[in-house]
Amino acid sequence: MDEIESPSLFLDFDGTLVEIADGPDAIEPPGALGRRLETLANRFDGRVAVVTGRSLDNLHHFLGPSATFRAGSHGAHIEGPDREVLREARPLPDDAISTLADFAKETGLLYERKTHGGALHYRSNPAMMDQVLSIAEQVGEQHGLAVKQGKSVAELVWPGADKGGAVRILMAKPPFAGSVPVFLGDDVTDEDGMAAAREHDGFGIAVGERPFTNASYHLPTVKDVYEWLKL
Ligand SMILES: [Mg+2]
Repeated sequence: MDEIESPSLFLDFDGTLVEIADGPDAIEPPGALGRRLETLANRFDGRVAVVTGRSLDNLHHFLGPSATFRAGSHGAHIEGPDREVLREARPLPDDAISTLADFAKETGLLYERKTHGGALHYRSNPAMMDQVLSIAEQVGEQHGLAVKQGKSVAELVWPGADKGGAVRILMAKPPFAGSVPVFLGDDVTDEDGMAAAREHDGFGIAVGERPFTNASYHLPTVKDVYEWLKL
């Protein structure tokens, strides 16, 4: 990293900065992670952003208030230091929400309502994957929404609201403009972020086991991410 001129960091959260847990609320972030990310951002002259599928409120819940950039909801909602809004989230249509929530209720799965969309979690019953994807596709088609598949989760969001979009928006603004973006992530939704990093002459680093199309480098575990970033 020291050899790259003006690097910026785009960091996924689950599976990159925190170990994946049994459910979205079961994660155990390392102590004072918000503060540590702020220190990291200072080393990069402010050019550090956490880019997550979680809602920003949820991320704030785990990280506390922050003076760093955060993109939540896969990039549908972006805030700068001190929660300055750079892109506003937009919820799903009521009809889509009730269809998904009813499906979750009937099947005993978890429907997570987000400020920018909604997520069906099937970690508790992996055999439901096909049914979950099928209802997600159906609702997506009906309302013009995009379906994103993650680890044991299918999410519906407005089109264009992806991690690549977050990278592009931030790279157009100070302090990111003109930097070399490095995107770290572990999951399929991070491919968009890595592709956008490449567009800006940066690169992606895959974390964990998943084979990546757009990654140039690889770190095997979350622990390796902390060591590499001296976080
Ligand atoms: Mg992840």
